[in-house]
Amino acid sequence: MIPIAKPSLGWEEIEAIRRPLVSGWVAQGPEVRAFEEEFAKYVGSRYACAVSSCTSALHLALRAIGVRPGDEVITVSHSFIATANSIRFLGAIPIFIDIDPENYNMNTSYIERVVTKRTKAILCVHQMGMPCEIEKIVDISKRLGLFVVEDAACALGSEIYFKGGWERIGKPHGDIACFSFHPRKILTTGDGGMITTRKKEFDKKCRMWRNHSKVSVENLPGWESIVFHEIGYNYRMNDIQAAIGRAQMHKICNIVEERRKKAMNYISIMKKIKGIELPKEPRWARSNWQSYCIRLPRNVNQLEVIKKMSKKGIQTTGGIMCAHREPVYRKEPWSCGKQREICGCPPTHCERLKESERAQSECLIIPMYYELDIEEQKEIASSLGEALGQE
Ligand SMILES: *Cc1c(COP(=O)(O)O)cnc(C)c1O
Repeated sequence: MIPIAKPSLGWEEIEAIRRPLVSGWVAQGPEVRAFEEEFAKYVGSRYACAVSSCTSALHLALRAIGVRPGDEVITVSHSFIATANSIRFLGAIPIFIDIDPENYNMNTSYIERVVTKRTKAILCVHQMGMPCEIEKIVDISKRLGLFVVEDAACALGSEIYFKGGWERIGKPHGDIACFSFHPRKILTTGDGGMITTRKKEFDKKCRMWRNHSKVSVENLPGWESIVFHEIGYNYRMNDIQAAIGRAQMHKICNIVEERRKKAMNYISIMKKIKGIELPKEPRWARSNWQSYCIRLPRNVNQLEVIKKMSKKGIQTTGGIMCAHREPVYRKEPWSCGKQREICGCPPTHCERLKESERAQSECLIIPMYYELDIEEQKEIASSLGEALGQE
C-alpha cells in the first residue's frame, strides 16, 4: 500500500531520545528549551513556545489576544475541525467565510463584509501548507483593529513573499502563529505544537498557561513560593518529544526540498490525465506540499475514485473537511456564515460556503511524503488515469 503520508523518522530520532532517557529528565526541560530556540531561528520568530498540540496552541493563542465569550472570530469552515473548535473553547463564535477555489485558502474579499462590532480577530489557515494571503489579511486587520492568528499547523517551511522579500511562515506575519507536529504534518514529535510570536507579552502568557499558570515567587517560604493566579492547563510538551523534534529540525530543509521536487514530478507525470486540476502556487507563495490536492472533473464520483485507487494499493482521501457540515456545528444558527435563517440555505448546503463544500467533495488528496519515489508517483498517475476511465 502506498500511504497518503509517512513521517520521516530514522536513526537520528532514535539516537536523540537516548539523551532524555539516559539523563532521566523526561518531562518538559532542557530539550524543550533547545527545540524552541532552534525552531524560532528557523522560522525567524523572536519567541517560540512548545505545547502538546496545535489545538492547544490555537487555544492559548486566541486566549492570549484576549478572545472572550461572545466575541466573533473570522475564519474558514474548510479546515480540520480543531480550527473552529479552538474558538469555541473560549465561548467565542467562528464566523466562517468561503475559500478561493484556486488555492483553497480564505477568500480575503469576504472579510470586511462580515466584520461587526464584536469581531475580535481573524484566524486564517495556511491550508495543506499553501500560504494564505497573509499580507492582505494583515493590512485589513490593521485597518480594522483586529488581531491575526495564523493556523500554520501544516505550513512549516512554507514561504511567502511579504513586503518585498521571501520569508518563512511563522515569523509570524500576524500576531501569533501555531504549528502542529502530528505525524500527518511536515515535522513530527508524535504529537506536539508550537506557538510563535514577536510579542513578549503573548509568549509569557502562553508559557504560563501551558503549565497550569504556575508562577514561582522568590523569597517566600514553603508552599507560598508557588502561586496560581489564573486557570491554566497541562499543555506541556515533554523532553522525549522535543528530542525527536530537534532531530527532525536538522532535516527540515531537506524534507521541504524533497517534497517540492515531488510536486514538480507530479506536474509532469499528471499532464496526460484529462480533466483534473493540479494545485497552483500563487506568485507570492511557496508551499511545503504538506498535502497534494488535485481537483477531479465535476462529473466524477469522488468515493468511487478513492475505492478504485485503494484496490490498486494507493491510499487517497477526499478534500479537506468543512466544519459547518459536521453535526456539532450544523445545528448552530451561525454555522453557515451568519444567520442561516436569513440566507435560507438547505440543511446540507450553505450558499455562502459553496467553494468550501465544492473543494471537499471534488478534491482528491494523493500520496506525498519524503520517501515517495518517482516510480510510485508514476504508478499513482496511471492508477488515477484508469480510475477515471482514461486507459
Ligand atoms: C492538524 C491540524 C490541526 C490540529 O493539529 P494537532 O496538532 O493535531 O492538534 C489544526 N489545524 C489544521 C489546519 C490542521 O491541519
